[in-house]
Amino acid sequence: MMTMMGDALLGAATGALATAGFLSHAVRGRSSTFFGPSVYRGDRSRAALALTFDDGPSESTPRLLEILAGYGVPATFFMCGANVRRCPDIARAVSAAGHEVGNHSDTHPRFDFCRPQFIYREIAKAQDTIRETTGVTPRLFRAPFGVRWFGLRNAQRHLGLLGVMWTVLGHDWHWPAERVSGRLIQRASNGAVLCLHDGREVQRAPDLQVTLDAVRFAIPILKERGFRFETVSQILCPTN
Ligand SMILES: [Zn+2]
Repeated sequence: MMTMMGDALLGAATGALATAGFLSHAVRGRSSTFFGPSVYRGDRSRAALALTFDDGPSESTPRLLEILAGYGVPATFFMCGANVRRCPDIARAVSAAGHEVGNHSDTHPRFDFCRPQFIYREIAKAQDTIRETTGVTPRLFRAPFGVRWFGLRNAQRHLGLLGVMWTVLGHDWHWPAERVSGRLIQRASNGAVLCLHDGREVQRAPDLQVTLDAVRFAIPILKERGFRFETVSQILCPTN
């Protein structure tokens, strides 16, 4: 009797743990498409990389644009609508330089446990701001903190957005530049999407020296290894 009860309890506990494990992967797993269409890397057969920058634009973005222009490298910028309203000229400069612009929500909230209407409004407001400011309508969306939730699939469908996670996270918000560039260089592989930051959520004039140094150091080494740099859309569909 005790054994049967024990088994039942163990079964229930295992079931709950499995559910928690499934949900945690669905919410944060880079390969999960449970809450909406999503990719985390491009074609593995071509030696191409996609540099992505989240949370901007910020006052430091023009320095990053100079570095990228110096190397002739395109990138993809996942912008927050609130930061686009704060730095509209910089948002326009990113787009005018030929970089791809994606949507990273309006105010960078965590979406877990949020209502679907809230999620939709956050993404739609950023979409409107980016379009009105730069003239570009984003086709790509990166969830703040990589956290997806119920309602996102519907918002993506209505707004025509594909989710983009990452292959390599740069950790540029808390690591020194050498460690960040070392990680990018070590983990780069065909079709990898590399995730860095040119802003800090919705914050004025963040210090992005680590990101700038890491990028300046890593790009020439990766080019020397035979990688070319592309936007996320190019890396996903090279014929476009
Ligand atoms: Zn972010």
